[in-house]
Amino acid sequence: MEKVLTVDDLHVSFSTHGGTVQAVRGVSFYLQKGETLAIVGESGCGKSVTSQSIMQLLPNSNIGMLHGSIRFKGTNILQYSEKQMRKIRGKEISMIFQDPMTGLNPSLTIGNQLMEAVREHQKLSQKEAREAAIDMLQLVGIPSPHERMKQYPHQFSGGMRQRIMIAMALICHPEIIIADEPTTALDVTVQAQIFELFKKIQKETGVSIILITHDLGVVAQVADRIAVMYAGRIVETGTREEIFYQAEHPYTKGLLDSMPRLDMEEEELIPIPGTPPDLFAPPPGCPFTARCPMAMEVCSRVEPSHARKSATHSLDCWLQDDRAKYAFSTVGVRPQKK
Ligand code: SF4
Repeated sequence: MEKVLTVDDLHVSFSTHGGTVQAVRGVSFYLQKGETLAIVGESGCGKSVTSQSIMQLLPNSNIGMLHGSIRFKGTNILQYSEKQMRKIRGKEISMIFQDPMTGLNPSLTIGNQLMEAVREHQKLSQKEAREAAIDMLQLVGIPSPHERMKQYPHQFSGGMRQRIMIAMALICHPEIIIADEPTTALDVTVQAQIFELFKKIQKETGVSIILITHDLGVVAQVADRIAVMYAGRIVETGTREEIFYQAEHPYTKGLLDSMPRLDMEEEELIPIPGTPPDLFAPPPGCPFTARCPMAMEVCSRVEPSHARKSATHSLDCWLQDDRAKYAFSTVGVRPQKK
């Protein structure tokens, strides 16, 4: 399948009053045409910073270091100027945020906002822009779109507002949509409807989606491939089946063990003990060492080697390297089921 985006060795750090935060530390992944790649991990693992780097939406004043490459259509867009990025944002790569109100102007009707969005990138008459806006509202399932074009964001429910944000993201027919926790603010039923909508739109338009989420339940519903992030790094990546049924990284396994499932009682869930490391001063070796039930002496000293399990499945963990398994003892403690 054709790769529409390739991120290679991305590093992002921020300067703050407290020091330098190394938010993203050598992240590499690709996105194929028409697929959904989910980037998952706990809050603060660097997944949103990664997605905002693609759009160059990070606050310039705070960026301490930003390097690596983000190739879109053969060009490293990380080197693009703000003027060049403005031509890409919305038209080629769109973003959907958790809170639709941050992306909608409360003082403009949604019709005007959609028409403005499409006319910013395409030479369309007022009539054509209006037709495009109505078509898009229909596609995302807004009933009576002609009438609703005249309404303001506050006249819609949270779920409907998120549908409008999806319409805004799609109206210029982008190649890629980045959805950052797009349903976290919505109730479970509306979440399911929004993800059904994503699948329908992907089938109809062939758009590629990067889904940023902490929710593995969501990932199980919609992702084709999954990248698991921890402490600014991707620690395991694979197809949905490889991650859900053949995960090998202790962090991925921990996330899966802590995920509520229909066939499990609440008391069977095993939370991952401890907290992620301080990214002001990331520890040497594997960043998961302090929480890992399988940690070995080598883990806290040397960066884990990269293991490839299949063409799509790989991970960074010393357990995959026989040299570590036989040379060092296990020092971690597996939490017990209650
Ligand atoms: Fe655990 Fe070591 Fe693997 Fe890190 S490298 S996940 S600490 S076993």
